[in-house]
Amino acid sequence: MNSKIKRIGVLTSGGDAPGMNAAVRAVVRAASFFSIECVAIYQGFHGLISNNTKLMNARGANNIINKGGTVLKSARCLEFRTTEGRKKAFDTIKINKIDGLIIIGGDGSFTGAMIFQSEFSIPVIGIPGTIDNDIFGTTHTIGYDTALNTVIEAIDKIRDTAISHNRLFFVEVMGRDAGHIALNTGIGAGAEEILIPEEDMGLDRLLDSLKRSEKSGKSSSIVVVAEGDKTGKNVFEIAEYIEKNLPHYEVRVSVLGHMQRGGSPSCFDRVLASRMGVHAVESMINGKSNVMVGLDNSEMILTPLSKAIKGKSKINKDLIRVSDILTV
Ligand code: ATP
Repeated sequence: MNSKIKRIGVLTSGGDAPGMNAAVRAVVRAASFFSIECVAIYQGFHGLISNNTKLMNARGANNIINKGGTVLKSARCLEFRTTEGRKKAFDTIKINKIDGLIIIGGDGSFTGAMIFQSEFSIPVIGIPGTIDNDIFGTTHTIGYDTALNTVIEAIDKIRDTAISHNRLFFVEVMGRDAGHIALNTGIGAGAEEILIPEEDMGLDRLLDSLKRSEKSGKSSSIVVVAEGDKTGKNVFEIAEYIEKNLPHYEVRVSVLGHMQRGGSPSCFDRVLASRMGVHAVESMINGKSNVMVGLDNSEMILTPLSKAIKGKSKINKDLIRVSDILTV
C-alpha cells in the first residue's frame, strides 16, 4: 500500500454519461473504506481551476447510484487547455492537499489529465465515462449500455409509427467518430440498414438495399445513421437523396439527440461503474498513475492513458455481416 495517498480528488468531465454518479459513489465509498479522504471537484476542470470543491464522505454519495447525469456537474473547460489555467488548477490541488486525482470522462479529459500529470507530477487515474464507447483499453465505457437501451426503446416506438404509415424512417443516433451505438442498436432494433463512420457503404448501395427490401414486400423500414456517417452527408441530406430516388416512399427523419445521454443507468452500467471506481482507488493507493481502468473479459485492467487516447476502439465487423444477413 502506498501510504502517500491520504486524500484524493474526483471530478467528472466532458459529456455526461449515465453511470457517472455510480462511479463517483464508488470512488467516494472506496476511499472511505481505505481511510482516505475524498474531495469532490465540481464542474470538471473548470471547478479544479476555480476551487469549486467540497470534502465528501461516504454518506455524501447516498442515493445517487440510480441517477443519470452527474451530481458533480460536468463542463468543457477551455482554460484548462492553457498553461496558466493548469497552474491555477494546481493551486487548488495544493490548497486542498490532494495527493491524487481520479478523472471520470472521455479521451479529451484524459488528454488534459495526462498533460496536467506531466507538468505537476500529480498522480492521475482515468475512469472511462462516455456513451460513445470510443476508448481503447476497455470493452465498455460507463454509459454506453444505458445509451444502447435508450436508443432501442426510442427506435421501437418509431417502428410503431413507421409500420402504421408505411414510412421509411432515418434515425440519427450519437457517434461522431464511432459507430458502436448505431451498429448495436441497428441490429437490436432490426434496422434495414446501418450507416457508421467506420465503413463507407455509399448511397447507391443504400438505395439498392431499400429497393430490394421494397420488392421483397417490406412496406416500412428503419435506417439507423450515426452522426459521423462516412457518406459525408448528414441524415437530412441522405433522406432527401433517397426520397428523390424512391418517390413512392414516405420518408421521415428522427434525430434522437441528447435524450441518448439521459436516464437512469442500466444495471450493467451501475456494476461497471462500481467496479471501476473501486479499482481506480485501489490502483491509486498501490502507486499507479497515468492509467485508465477498463473492462476486459470480465476483468478489471489498467491501460496507460496515452494508449487509451491514441488507440482506436474497433467496431466488431461480424456485426456488419450479421446485419447484412438479417436484412435479407
Ligand atoms: P466526450 O467523449 O463525452 O466528449 P471528453 O472527455 O472527450 O468527453 P472533451 O470536451 O473532449 O470531452 O474534453 C473535456 C475537457 O478536457 C475539455 O473541456 C478540456 O478542459 C480538457 N481537455 C481536452 N483536451 C485537452 C488538451 N489537449 N489539453 C488540456 N486539456 C484538455
